[in-house]
Amino acid sequence: MVAKIIDGKEVAAKVREDCRQRVEALGAFGTRPGLAVIIVGDNPASKVYVANKAKACSEVGLNSKVHAFPAETEEAEVLRLIDTLNHDPSIHGILVQLPLPPNYNVRRILETISRDKDVDGFHLYNVGALAVGSSIFPPCTPYGVSKILEHEHIEVAGQNVVVVGASNIVGKPMALMLMQKDATVCICHAKTRDLAQFTILADILVVAAGRPNLILPQMVKTGAAVIDVGINRLPNGDLVGDVDFDGVSQKASHITPVPGGVGPMTVTMLIENTVQAAERFVGIKG
Ligand code: NAP
Repeated sequence: MVAKIIDGKEVAAKVREDCRQRVEALGAFGTRPGLAVIIVGDNPASKVYVANKAKACSEVGLNSKVHAFPAETEEAEVLRLIDTLNHDPSIHGILVQLPLPPNYNVRRILETISRDKDVDGFHLYNVGALAVGSSIFPPCTPYGVSKILEHEHIEVAGQNVVVVGASNIVGKPMALMLMQKDATVCICHAKTRDLAQFTILADILVVAAGRPNLILPQMVKTGAAVIDVGINRLPNGDLVGDVDFDGVSQKASHITPVPGGVGPMTVTMLIENTVQAAERFVGIKG
């Protein structure tokens, strides 16, 4: 079996086009969705992510504003800005780029963001609400994976899903979202003994561990859909996922490449969440 290679850029383009039309429709209410992005310090990767988010937002007509602070900024100053943004009617989404400086209380920062503007879905309210299937904003990366499965008409209900990786931003919310869609879900992590005994059972295998070549063909069931969230930079500069793409694509039914698979969906779902926040603000979405 040779897998269908899922084109994440194509799926992302469709979602973005839908968002662009919804942004236009919001114009009739005198509203343009606004996203505020806060970055503290000069982590080079964070700077690139923030620039990419701002660019993608403006391409679909959102108003995005980046608030950049030097690393030595007092946490209280960032908290004050979040409070101001919470009350700013032109801002519908607030995102704090992680990581923050080590002396910051990350939970306090995230909990200060209004849950109605928490477009990254990291506020404890949204984290908890995901467990009961009523989150306001699903976190962007697992939401993107969900959209990919939907776009590819990959049935989730009743399927065996194995999620490799149990982080708060990818693995755990991914598992909750798919469980909500009636999958039978198993979560694996670094202390899982004999990973292959679990992955081989997966009809849908989602991998988010940050370990190149973690998933080899013999660990994958023939015909499984394999979603590779991992992003790893090899010493030679190549960007790869967590899955042995060449080997596993000879066995899976579907596979996402890295780059060009899940990656483009993450920023796209941030746009989607921000548009939805603006729609709720004007009262056209519940
Ligand atoms: P993370 O916070 O480092 O979490 C990694 C998870 O993988 C942890 O739960 C860890 O287990 C588990 N793990 C590590 N080694 C493992 C192994 N050998 N076997 C099984 N599980 C293992 O990372 P993250 O933020 O979730 O990100 C995961 C990967 O996705 C990274 O490569 C990251 O760059 C990528 N990512 C991509 C996107 C995108 O847009 N495509 C977005 C976010 C992240 P323990 O809990 O036991 O430590």
